[in-house]
Amino acid sequence: MEWAESRQGSTLILAVSGRLDIESANAFRDALMSRLGGADARVVLDFSGVEYISSAGLRVLMIASKQARTAGVALAIAGMQPLVAEIFQISRFDTLFACHPTLEQALTGQTHATSQPARSGLDQEGASDAIAVKFWGTRGSLPAPLGVQQLRGKLASALVAGAGLNLDTLEKARSFVEGLPFRVGGTYGGNSSCVELGARGNDIVLLDMGSGARLAGHDALRRLAGQPGEFHIFMSHLHWDHIMGFPFFVPAYVPGQHIRIYGCHDRLEHAFRRQQDEPSFPVDFSKLGANIEFIVLEPERSYEIAGYQVMARLQLHGGDSYGYRFERDGKVVVYSTDAEHKPEQAEDVRGFVDLFRDADLVIFDAMYSLADSVSIREDWGHSSNVVGVELCQQAGAKRLALFHHEPVNDDAAIDRLCHEAQRLEEITRMGERLEILAAYDGLELDI
Ligand SMILES: [Zn+2]
Ligand SMILES: [Zn+2]
Repeated sequence: MEWAESRQGSTLILAVSGRLDIESANAFRDALMSRLGGADARVVLDFSGVEYISSAGLRVLMIASKQARTAGVALAIAGMQPLVAEIFQISRFDTLFACHPTLEQALTGQTHATSQPARSGLDQEGASDAIAVKFWGTRGSLPAPLGVQQLRGKLASALVAGAGLNLDTLEKARSFVEGLPFRVGGTYGGNSSCVELGARGNDIVLLDMGSGARLAGHDALRRLAGQPGEFHIFMSHLHWDHIMGFPFFVPAYVPGQHIRIYGCHDRLEHAFRRQQDEPSFPVDFSKLGANIEFIVLEPERSYEIAGYQVMARLQLHGGDSYGYRFERDGKVVVYSTDAEHKPEQAEDVRGFVDLFRDADLVIFDAMYSLADSVSIREDWGHSSNVVGVELCQQAGAKRLALFHHEPVNDDAAIDRLCHEAQRLEEITRMGERLEILAAYDGLELDI
């Protein structure tokens, strides 16, 4: 391994060449560390001459990035050869560093462009007025992965459904599986609450940080492709199932990412910091690399954030929760989870009808059946499919997504709650049809 040093303005350029492996790692570390003392505001590693990097070399980069962060130095990598770039992708180091295709682009601030084609509504957000909504986690209280017995049940049902068909290639089998009913070919939420609303530019809008936030974070970094993102996270409340994904939300670890966490609880910051305290988690909150801010919002007040008009409303739940109404370009999305309703109290009903008024989509805590929610589970802080239908009908909402599914409920039970809600809507319809669906992890809607 060899290297050469040059300077452009306040940027130090270190051109590295050769192999960065176990043989050269120590020399690379010593040379690099001595130059990350903070004298230069920015250090660019010109990797155009690096032929190979092993885990030992990557480890040095990881140590260097921590040192750079402590010293307040921006560290970037430029000009990786295809093999090295692929090692970065496989090791996910491309999400940890600002990577530029060439040194020139590093010096002019252009970042690596993603080679992946646009796939979802979130990728194409900004191209139309529709709001892309993606559900990353839809389970209530605790993540509930599909069990092996349930999986085998689905496989067996699929085999019976395909009996006699000539499914002798993966392509044929895949297209057959696409057409299976959801209870056989799909599954409802495994992860706890996290929903993404499409936003423009480098804004990312997320609702709650349940375990679904882990995948949301990876996907956001993929779309940002090395650029700094502006994350806006709205918290319904601070129960564990709504914050547990944050320690696994990779953008929080990436220097240069800006994360704003909004909520109405005055202990918002405390809850996030505490879950990463010893002995609950190995990485203390203070070690996170992103710039993280906490912003306490006032309920019933309208804010303009990330292109949306946002308003929060107090909900009945242990320790309080808040529902949010998001408006953009005449479209309305309401996120109302972890809320118990008292349908017999006119004032409670009026408040929610206002929150849901003419919404294009209402994401609603329908954890229980009505019978459960008003009997054995009264005062447990959750609602039912029936109340969801009634409130949406009164508010003139167009679509209702049942959300925060009870961990005990398997796919058949959630299907049943959904069908019952659809039937209730049909027999009590007063005006326009209300479309009802049960949200699942991975569901994408264009609103
Ligand atoms: Zn919850
Ligand atoms: Zn809760």
